[in-house]
Amino acid sequence: MHTPRIICILDGMADLPRDDGQPTPLAAAHTPTLDHLAATGTVGLCQVIPTGAEAGSDAGIPALLGYDPLRHPAARGPLEALAAGLPLAPRDTAWRCNVVALDAHGNIADPAATLLPATEQTIARIVRDAFPTPAYGTAHGGGFRFTVVERDGDNAASPSYPAAPAALTPFTPAGPQDVIGQSPADALRALARHHPALHARITTANAQLARLAGPDAPHGLALWPWGCGHRPALPPFFACHPAAASSTHPDAPLTAAMVAAVPLARGLAMAAGLIAPEIPGATGGADTDLAAKTAAALALLTDHAVVFIHVEGPDMCAHARDARAKSDLLTRIDAELIAPLRAARPDALLCVTCDHVTHCGDGRHHPDAVPFLLHGPGALPHPAARFDEAACAATGLRIPSGPALLDMVLRTVANQPDSAIDPTAPHD
Ligand SMILES: [Zn+2]
Repeated sequence: MHTPRIICILDGMADLPRDDGQPTPLAAAHTPTLDHLAATGTVGLCQVIPTGAEAGSDAGIPALLGYDPLRHPAARGPLEALAAGLPLAPRDTAWRCNVVALDAHGNIADPAATLLPATEQTIARIVRDAFPTPAYGTAHGGGFRFTVVERDGDNAASPSYPAAPAALTPFTPAGPQDVIGQSPADALRALARHHPALHARITTANAQLARLAGPDAPHGLALWPWGCGHRPALPPFFACHPAAASSTHPDAPLTAAMVAAVPLARGLAMAAGLIAPEIPGATGGADTDLAAKTAAALALLTDHAVVFIHVEGPDMCAHARDARAKSDLLTRIDAELIAPLRAARPDALLCVTCDHVTHCGDGRHHPDAVPFLLHGPGALPHPAARFDEAACAATGLRIPSGPALLDMVLRTVANQPDSAIDPTAPHD
């Protein structure tokens, strides 16, 4: 029998020390199961975001799936298009479009607007009208997340497209967090030079969105296009990880799966050759149905060697600078995800970590090393008193990268101590 692997990515779980000396949301959360696993497993910090990469899920999730984000840059637009099932030809360009909320001066105030369902439906109609098929494809990834695919052809021809496909590098606007305080029209000016057709259609949509006014958008909304790129070409997950194959039963299917709601995580998994089914009830927010995700993961574990579980909520709470909500969600994750997984599959090796720090103090991502724990068959004891940032740092164990952490997870084999990774050995 092979050892199944469960890798939980609690997006933005880690936080920075608070100015007021209060505990971080993870330290404040009531997490008896995570604390027990930390006290009996391998615990430390992992430098998931490499030097030179922007701190965010775009780098952190690929790293935890074993891909060096500097060698395999993952643009959100095409990954989310994959997750949405939008066809993506090699020269098509896919864009992530955030719905941003405006302030009384018409400037961008909230880079990820919180929308009522009726508003979402109105925006979806405006986006569909502004980007008609067949020249464009659109998808709504839930909430403020939209994807627009610009089909290669006459309408998509733009000065930024060089002739050689190998050199295709579309102009990428700044992320939505970096345009707070600017007017959408001013901030989009550079897009007009590089992608005039897309700029014209975004401007048309924004004229309508600016006039929307409701309790969720008192000063109107706008689309902010970013994260653009072409169809990704990631080497398949199991081609990269023969160690995972060698540790499984010869007859066991060499497949991996992703349980996630947000299109970025699902699209990335699909680009890597993992299956990533849609999970009813998984919302990508703090209200997500953790029992549904647990059930989906347990079902996938019956015929997949590796199951990743991505939970977006902690990141969302931290962006909203709501430390209490982040802590409450981590408490719920401990009870409704980690505890039932551990109880149902004691034979599985369980890893819990996150892709990057999201600090409730400033609502932003940070590249600092993040806590991880590894528990189950073959995991060598390197415990911490509990599972929080300070306790994990105090163990002194530091894994240098996301791919190195995945390697450690995949190469740890039950009942074969010689093949297990000694966590105290130096990693490079
Ligand atoms: Zn985030």
